[in-house]
Amino acid sequence: MKKNKCVFLDRDGVLIKDVGYLKDPADIIVLPDVASSLKRLKNAGFVLIIITNQAGIAKGFFTEEDLKNVNNILLNIFKSDGLIIDDLYYCPHHKDGTVEHYTIACDCRKPNTGMVLKGVGKFNIDLKKSFMVGDKDSDMLLAKNSGIRSFYIKNEMYEHDNSVIPDFTVFNLKEAAEIILSINSAL
Ligand SMILES: [Mg+2]
Ligand SMILES: [Zn+2]
Repeated sequence: MKKNKCVFLDRDGVLIKDVGYLKDPADIIVLPDVASSLKRLKNAGFVLIIITNQAGIAKGFFTEEDLKNVNNILLNIFKSDGLIIDDLYYCPHHKDGTVEHYTIACDCRKPNTGMVLKGVGKFNIDLKKSFMVGDKDSDMLLAKNSGIRSFYIKNEMYEHDNSVIPDFTVFNLKEAAEIILSINSAL
């Protein structure tokens, strides 16, 4: 069976504005050119999977229900624009949480590979033909740990440690999508 190629997408700071522990759907701000860029990737045959660390749940800043609500509204914003995201995985855990149920050292919190492997199993993904787009070192490290090429979206919000070298550095998702599409068409 032919394997699929995938773009794994961080949520906050890549698709929507990173407002820090987003709880209120009114604070969802989709970044410029995101929907159109994702549509181009989808049309080129990429599976689109959002993978997001949401330790705010373990830390008691919001509940899993709050998160699901925000995610559903985001997916519906895309849907009403004609864009279907194939899947979305989140990690609610943190080893130093305050909510007991979620306070564990898990294998899904990025840079651990749990969420990527979940997608690989479900969509029969070829990681060598896949990409990760994120705005934190944990996203880049996840890509490295998974054997995926990485795009780092440059930002002032998070410190970028030079020990984690992304394959590409860009300013936004649109730029990442253009490079992915050009690599893809050369294959
Ligand atoms: Mg992020
Ligand atoms: Zn987890």
